[in-house]
Amino acid sequence: MSDCVFCEIVAGQIPSTRVYEDESTLVFMDIGEVNPGHVLVTVKAHVENIFGLNDTLAAAVFRTAARAARAVQKAYAPEGVTLYQANGAAAGQTVFHFHLHLVPRYAQDGMHLTWPAKNPPREQLEANAARLRAALD
Ligand code: AMP
Ligand code: ZN
Repeated sequence: MSDCVFCEIVAGQIPSTRVYEDESTLVFMDIGEVNPGHVLVTVKAHVENIFGLNDTLAAAVFRTAARAARAVQKAYAPEGVTLYQANGAAAGQTVFHFHLHLVPRYAQDGMHLTWPAKNPPREQLEANAARLRAALD
């Protein structure tokens, strides 16, 4: 897709630092890395977000993500690894070509996700679950 920076990376039209690729996925270094070893796992086809992934592509992405996570763990032995994946600007997505962050983590690394837990009553959770079950495809 024109005007998509990750399509340009996939096509080799702009510089990137690649770690791994297969038929449908690509792993490359995040130019704004939070910690050394921070990579992006993406799909080669232009898919804007998670809703554009078919089952085959979704499985391929997570297979690659798990493999890349093992490499991050082996190479850096971080204290933890965060998977971060945003869909839509409100969710924090800034590049609108599906990607999953793998971020090696350390206790004092300054990365924070505010998590405003509401702790609703069980009945509310049951109602939410029913709504989701009715929406499954
Ligand atoms: P998100 O906010 O989840 O959409 O993340 C987009 C990520 O893409 C950011 O962490 C950027 O640092 C990264 N990024 C943007 N442009 C490039 C690029 N040309 N090469 C590598 N990473 C990039
Ligand atoms: Zn794209």
